[in-house]
Amino acid sequence: MSNLVLVTGSSRGIGAASAIRLASEGYNVCINYIHDAVAAQEVVKQIQLTGQKALAVQADVSEEKQVIMLFERMDEYFGRVYGLVNNAGILFKQMRVEEMSAERINAVLTTNVTSAFLCAREAIKRMSLDRGGAGGVIVNVSSAAARIGSAGEYVDYAASKGAIDTMTIGLANEVAEQGIRVNAVRPGFIYTDMHRAGGEPGRVDRLKGSLPMQRGGSVDEVAAAVSWLMSEESSYTTGSFIEVSGGR
Ligand code: NAP
Repeated sequence: MSNLVLVTGSSRGIGAASAIRLASEGYNVCINYIHDAVAAQEVVKQIQLTGQKALAVQADVSEEKQVIMLFERMDEYFGRVYGLVNNAGILFKQMRVEEMSAERINAVLTTNVTSAFLCAREAIKRMSLDRGGAGGVIVNVSSAAARIGSAGEYVDYAASKGAIDTMTIGLANEVAEQGIRVNAVRPGFIYTDMHRAGGEPGRVDRLKGSLPMQRGGSVDEVAAAVSWLMSEESSYTTGSFIEVSGGR
């Protein structure tokens, strides 16, 4: 069976940590990024040190043609894909809904939601038992924001993660008979560069006191949940969510 996993948006943050963790569990990993080729190559190097194969492919996963190209590159380089981690995601500067432009809202939705559908579509074509595949696993990176709503910060982003949650349930039901499991993780306040994009690099430290565990989370704590959902240890789990959010 193939042991290839694609992690979208894996040049940095949660994606990079998940890719490195999965490689340490014995998977070959396709690294995907949009801008930061140097960081992506650094992740490739770290994976190669574990003895696994890795390839970095630049592709904007919100663009259909680029997603098709990404999967074709993987087919050529590695063969059939086994796992997909839909991790690529963005948010923009904190603001109230009444200030948001259509351009911003659409960018958030296409990058966070359309990308997950397109990558899932291409993965399912290769994984489905009916299409000659051997089954597979999809792990979506949602957010605690889907439950909380992110009022005053980025309701557009929170809503995109609500869509990912619904997609996780529907798709899990749709492809279970094809040997494909679909689950999601919902990280809370995790130390990554993403908060800088929201205009508040120190956001995790500002908010951590509101959590039962009184601290932010690490990318490795999220990667551990992704890794469990990818593994055979979770073989009877589909359409489920793991909260990695310090108790809230
Ligand atoms: P991050 O540090 O900002 O990294 C984002 C990654 O996504 C980078 O590798 C970036 O590539 C890539 N990317 C962005 N747009 C892309 C596109 N259109 N196509 C391909 N790749 C793209 O973010 P993070 O904090 O690790 O977040 C990862 C996921 O976790 C996201 O889905 C986010 O919503 C979710 N999450 C994060 C937190 C948190 O507190 N950090 C909490 C809950 C959920 P480049 O390096 O090339 O720019």
